[in-house]
Amino acid sequence: MEHQLSIYNTLKRKKELFVPINSPHVGMYVCGPTVYGDPHLGHARPAITFDILFRYLTFLGYKVRYVRNITDVGHLEHDADEGEDKIEKKARLEELEPMEIVQYYTLRYHAAMNALNVLPPSIEPHASGHIIEQENFVKKILANGFAYESNGSVYFDIEAYSKKHNYGELSGRNVEDMLSTTRDLDGQTEKHHSADFALWKKASPEHIMHWPSPWSEGFPGWHLECSAMGTKYLGEEFDIHGGGLDLLFPHHECEIAQSVAALGHETVHYWMHNNMITINGTKMGKSLGNFITLEEFFNGSNKALTQAYAPMTIRFFILQAQYRNTVDFSNEALQASEKALARLTEAVKNIERITPAEKTTVEISDLRAKCSEAMNDDLNTPIVISHLFDATKSINSILAGKDSITQGDLDELKSVFHTFMFEILGLKEEETVTANNAETFDKVVDLLLDLRKDAKTNKDWGTADKIRNSMSEMGFEVKDGKDGTEWKLNK
Ligand code: ZN
Repeated sequence: MEHQLSIYNTLKRKKELFVPINSPHVGMYVCGPTVYGDPHLGHARPAITFDILFRYLTFLGYKVRYVRNITDVGHLEHDADEGEDKIEKKARLEELEPMEIVQYYTLRYHAAMNALNVLPPSIEPHASGHIIEQENFVKKILANGFAYESNGSVYFDIEAYSKKHNYGELSGRNVEDMLSTTRDLDGQTEKHHSADFALWKKASPEHIMHWPSPWSEGFPGWHLECSAMGTKYLGEEFDIHGGGLDLLFPHHECEIAQSVAALGHETVHYWMHNNMITINGTKMGKSLGNFITLEEFFNGSNKALTQAYAPMTIRFFILQAQYRNTVDFSNEALQASEKALARLTEAVKNIERITPAEKTTVEISDLRAKCSEAMNDDLNTPIVISHLFDATKSINSILAGKDSITQGDLDELKSVFHTFMFEILGLKEEETVTANNAETFDKVVDLLLDLRKDAKTNKDWGTADKIRNSMSEMGFEVKDGKDGTEWKLNK
């Protein structure tokens, strides 16, 4: 197997040639969603970024075990250690079982990922299903002297850890600074330093989700689940750990510390982080009023959107940036992506219309190599897309009769588009529901209803009934009222 793929290792702060530990088997872990709300744009980017990596490694011939977790416990409101569990809060407010919340939003997350053509991971473990594994991790860390028990909770001891290991190496933070600033804040918590983080928290009486442990009836700290589940399914050492840049600190820094403290060594060979998404130049957040769920993008129901955007437009837009760069969403940018994707899709259809000739006069022989080279350079998807656009120029030129192509080269061209556009970038042809064709659709339905009205006026009951019955079979609900006829499509 060739190992020419180079990826950026956040830990080493440089691009590295990818060499799997157990070639041809690759282990890959990505932090998944916390399931207490509708999936939004922020969920789309890591899912798509690591879907591309998953697809590309598979394409290269590796057998990839891709683990992406579901966080359904221990994600507390204010920071990792204090406040109310977000899932519990929602459950309390809506008078539901926490697991009903988890189930509901997990299904909605899956539906959104499916629409974005994100392949499901090989294993999708839930934190709540791995409490014993997490407790075992805590026991190892305690036994090695890197944690302490305090009032039924267990905290990671940053000071003890940093005497032997380098806490802060992933995020580039200085542990001395962290420990010295936190000394002043002492007195109000059960922690030795406020930089210390919870491995196990004793549950307060109002806490609904809790489990027995040697320390207290409680629940694991958030960072612990990924250390426990990653090593359970991928082994004590595995190839790739991914996630959004917002997880770099504290989540991934704490994961490294936990693994080293429990096992004596780092578990991850390559850390990869996708950059963040902004909306019109500002950070996305509920309090900022620019929070748009994926469903709202798909149906255009958020007032910040001037139209609905097909899932493939969202996917294509994200792929138009290299994953380590920020992406800024705006209606204008999305509309540009919609048009660009339409041009590319048109090109694929146009290839089918080409009649091969005696000789090839366009430059396509190195197209596959150039696309591979871009993918091998830290998954540079925008460059892959630009090569495909160059090829569309050749396709148009051949169709216009200015250039020609042989059968063999035509087959190669088709194959390159199929491989890179569909198999690797994961784009698919779909009905693009844009504002324009939604409007046309409405007009056609209104026209049918007008014809039915005319038929009724002319006492042509046969035609009127035929229109009504056929529409009802298609899922339309038509209501005649005194202000005219209303309709909706039930799907
Ligand atoms: Zn994680």
